[in-house]
Amino acid sequence: MIFCPLYSGSSGNSIYVSSNYGSILIDAGLPGKSIESALASINREPNKIDGIFITHEHIDHVKGVGVLSRRYDIPIFANELTWKGMEKSIGKVKEENRKVIGVDSINIKDMYIASYSIPHDASDPVGYTITCGKNKVSIATDLGYFSREVEENVKGSDIVLLESNHDVEMVKFGPYPYPLKRRILSDVGHLSNYDCGKAIVNMIKSNCKNVVLGHLSKTNNYPELAYETVVSVLREEGIKVNEDVLISMAKRDMPSNYIEF
Ligand SMILES: [Zn+2]
Ligand SMILES: [Zn+2]
Repeated sequence: MIFCPLYSGSSGNSIYVSSNYGSILIDAGLPGKSIESALASINREPNKIDGIFITHEHIDHVKGVGVLSRRYDIPIFANELTWKGMEKSIGKVKEENRKVIGVDSINIKDMYIASYSIPHDASDPVGYTITCGKNKVSIATDLGYFSREVEENVKGSDIVLLESNHDVEMVKFGPYPYPLKRRILSDVGHLSNYDCGKAIVNMIKSNCKNVVLGHLSKTNNYPELAYETVVSVLREEGIKVNEDVLISMAKRDMPSNYIEF
C-alpha cells in the first residue's frame, strides 16, 4: 500500500491511499487544481482515482470534491447526513457517482474502506480505516477528543494519520473570538498537541508504530511545537521515538513524503 497526505491542515485536507490495484482519496478539501497538481507531483493521475471518501462536510474537506468528480467521473462516498450537509457546496454530481455509505465497509478493488464515528461538530462525521490484506491505514482527524470508538477502530493500524491540531495556550491567548475558541477546545472541536501525544501512548499499546501528525491549525500551532509536545508526552511515558514509534508530520501545503508498506 501507499499512503500519502497530499494536504493536511485547517486550510484543506486530502489523503491519497493506494494498493496494487486501486487508489482512493479521503477528502478533497482544496480546489480541484491543487489536488491535480499534488497528484501529478507523486506521479498519479486523477482519472485513476476509484473514489473519494468524505469524512464530513466542512469546507476544508470538500472544496474540490464536486469539481474532481465531474471532471474525472469519480464516485463520491459519504453517509446520508454528510451528503445533505455538503450537497450545496459541492454542486451537481452524476447520480451514479453519488454513493451513500452506511455501516458496511466498501470494497474498492483489493481494499476495504470502513468508516467510524468521530466526535466533531458536523452532521455525521467519520474517520476511515483502509485495509488491504494484512495492511491497515487509519485516518483520525477532526476529533474533539480521542474517543473509545476511535481507539477501537484505529487499533492494529500500520499507519495512523492523527490530528495534532493546536496548542491549548495558543488558542486561549490567540486572536480567535471567544465562541470559536470554545468550539475548538470543546469535545466536538479539535485534538490538541498534548491530547494527541496521550492518544499515541494508548495506540502504542495496541502495537501502532507509525503515526503521522496532521490537520495542524495555521493560527494556533506550528509543526515544531506539535512535534515537540507530542514527543515530550511520549518521553514522559518512557516511550522512545524512532525506536518504539515513528512520528512524522503531514505537510500543510504540499504532499508529504509518501509511505510505502
Ligand atoms: Zn471539521
Ligand atoms: Zn477539518
